[in-house]
Amino acid sequence: MAVRYLKSAPAVTHDDAGSRGVRETVAGVIADVRSRGDEAVREYSEKFDNWSPESFRLSAEEVERIVGGVPAQVLDDIRTVQARVRNFAQLQKDSLHDFETEVEPGVFLGQKNIPVAAAGAYVPGGRYPLVASAHMTVVTAKVAGVARVAACTPPIRGEIPAATIAALHLAGADEIYLLGGTQAVAAMALGTDTIGKVDLLAGPGNAYVAEAKRQLFGEVGIDLFAGPTEILVIADGDADPFFVAVDLLSQAEHGPDSPAILITDSEPLARRAMEFIDELLVDMPTRDYAAPAWRDHGVVALVGDLAEAFALADSYAAEHVQVLTSSPRDALAAMRNYGALFLGEGTCVSYGDKVIGTNHTLPTRGAARYTGGLWVGKYLKTVTYQEVTSEAASVELGRLCGRAARVELFEGHARSGDVRAHKYAGDPIPW
Ligand code: NAD
Repeated sequence: MAVRYLKSAPAVTHDDAGSRGVRETVAGVIADVRSRGDEAVREYSEKFDNWSPESFRLSAEEVERIVGGVPAQVLDDIRTVQARVRNFAQLQKDSLHDFETEVEPGVFLGQKNIPVAAAGAYVPGGRYPLVASAHMTVVTAKVAGVARVAACTPPIRGEIPAATIAALHLAGADEIYLLGGTQAVAAMALGTDTIGKVDLLAGPGNAYVAEAKRQLFGEVGIDLFAGPTEILVIADGDADPFFVAVDLLSQAEHGPDSPAILITDSEPLARRAMEFIDELLVDMPTRDYAAPAWRDHGVVALVGDLAEAFALADSYAAEHVQVLTSSPRDALAAMRNYGALFLGEGTCVSYGDKVIGTNHTLPTRGAARYTGGLWVGKYLKTVTYQEVTSEAASVELGRLCGRAARVELFEGHARSGDVRAHKYAGDPIPW
């Protein structure tokens, strides 16, 4: 494939100095929260967020007061979007079913999906109040059947993010903490005197939050690696370059570390879109994030045709892929690596982020090679069970097990098979 880059970002690797700094900071916070619990949580909240209230947990009265101050239209919109997210999550849940089958006479194998008992929902809020993340994490957990959902979100520059608190409350969060970053993730994963431990952590966040989840994985379950957001647009010569520009910047504004990538087979489209981006950035209110993101992590790649565009897009395994071509559904057959696809000009990544109903917590930094985004299934454990009620089947399985286990030199395993085979065949046990 011949790719010509009209604008390319410096190569970013997972081991660059920035990542190393984040890794070390996060490891230090986790170690401290592990050894000193609430005291360390408070110290780091003070240090990173200048936030040290009497209690990080909001009482029911405080939640009621905060929700009461949110404009009616905002509350209405939150309810509308949550209904959409709930509906899609319910459809996903309905697509899963427990089953049990008699694979041969008297041998029953089954599968069940059991929700985790407690989930921690991280709702980002360092730069923007990410109200929609409350819908994505908490509504989905509740549809899955999680009994206890603890939610953490940071204050924004010392202010309570009222709409986010309202969204958490309306989504059904059982506990709401005004706490952010690694200290929040570590507190939920490890448990402190005031914040109960959870079984699974879910939700997006910045590089610190994503790294904290990565380091704690094992002690706690995590949904996926959902770090700084990414957008990749595939466009052909029929696309409107203004839409391409607007959509690329819609995600670049998330933060200065958010990649925005354009892949196209049309040089005129690419050049016009780049001009529009420069023009739009001049007075974009969020240019402090969007401009450095585009400057440092913006890519424009020119390919020979759309088949090459889909192949190159697959190699990025980007979080969001917007397809602005004359036949956008071709991407469904042509691509395999993406968190979510946005097909055609009628929709956009912002719909997925904020309103349409699919989940916006999606894999970043290549994780789309091996996982999709947050969904009901991430809160469920798919477990199996078995029962053998036929003596003849047990004799057969016991003998098979004895032979198979001895190949592996597992005498103890073999004997578990032997005792059944011999008992049900009416033979004495030979050892
Ligand atoms: P955030 O809540 O993720 O992070 C804020 C916290 O980071 C603060 O509370 C603070 O404690 C901590 N922090 C900040 N600077 C620190 C430092 N130097 N050292 C240690 N801790 C520090 O909010 P944010 O920063 O606004 O980031 C939100 C992120 O979520 C963005 O990067 C956005 O792209 C991403 N996001 C991702 C997805 C996804 O699905 N992948 C979806 C939505 C948002």
